[in-house]
Order: sequence, then C-alpha cells, then structure tokens
Amino acid sequence: MTEQTTTKKLRVGWFSFSCCEDSTVVMTELLNDHWQEWKKFIDFRHARVLKSHNVMDEMDVAFVEGAIASQKHMDELKEIRAKAKKIVAIGACAVVGMPSGQRNQFDEKTWAEIQHLIDRFKHLPKVLKVADVVTVDASVGGCPMNPDQFLAVVSGALEEFGVVSKK
Ligand code: SF4
Repeated sequence: MTEQTTTKKLRVGWFSFSCCEDSTVVMTELLNDHWQEWKKFIDFRHARVLKSHNVMDEMDVAFVEGAIASQKHMDELKEIRAKAKKIVAIGACAVVGMPSGQRNQFDEKTWAEIQHLIDRFKHLPKVLKVADVVTVDASVGGCPMNPDQFLAVVSGALEEFGVVSKK
C-alpha cells in the first residue's frame, strides 16, 4: 500500500523513436487498471499518445521507446537527457537496438538497395540503442516491454522522487 507524501506529482515524459510502438500500447492498456491512481501521482508532461498539448520541460523520468536511427533522433534524445533526471529505456529496441535495427545486419547487396532511402531520410549509417547516445539510468526489457518490470520502475520512481511512501 502507498500513501501520497506531498502534493508533488512525478513529472513524466513518454517518447517513441524508430519502432512499432507496441510498448506504448502496453502502457496505455496498463492505464485501464492504474489511471485512477496515476492521475493523483503522475503529471504527464509529454506523451503524444495521451494528449495533444505536450510540454518539453523539466522531467523527473523520461521513458524512451525505440531505436535511434537518424541525427534528428540523436538531437531529440540529447534534449530529453538534458531535461530529465532519469531516463528509462523501454523495450528491446531501446535497450539493445533490435529488432528495429535489423538493417545493421544487412549484407552489401541489400545495403546497396536501401542506400537511397538512408540518404533521402538522412538516416545514420548504423541504428543505435539509446545507451549508445545518452546515459541510461534503468531499462525495461521485452518485446514489447515487460509490464511487471515497468510497473516496478514506476513504483520505484514514485518513491525515489518523494511522491509516495510505502505504508
Ligand atoms: S521492442 Fe518490440 S514491441 Fe517494442 S518497439 Fe521494438 S519491435 Fe516493437
């Protein structure tokens, strides 16, 4: 059981890079069971899946899903790192770069076939995991993410940032 220690809410961002966004689907499904509790404790500053008006400002925790495939992604991720006290990599694509990074394993012939797409969309020569670009504080593995691990990370963050205490 938990109790709120202050009126402070956990400032959270949810971001998706190159991926199928199935961990976003898992997170929204978890809201079915946890919305009443989370709306008391969590201030979603930036979560495009939940709201249309998003703010990119100071966050306690940024959850980052997907692999990093372009310079634009790298720049956005560095901005998130600068604004978030804690970054949590969400799902295998963010944690190890796969399966979204499968072009890293293409042979020469296949690379020649996709090179024009890499150039047109200004993609990086190699797809990166989140930890290749910024420091990652915690990870939730799985494809999509393991929901129990995610809930444990959320609970830990609520305590770590002084929003709730265990009774
Ligand atoms: S880890 Fe799996 S579920 Fe998550 S974005 Fe990658 S492919 Fe999709």
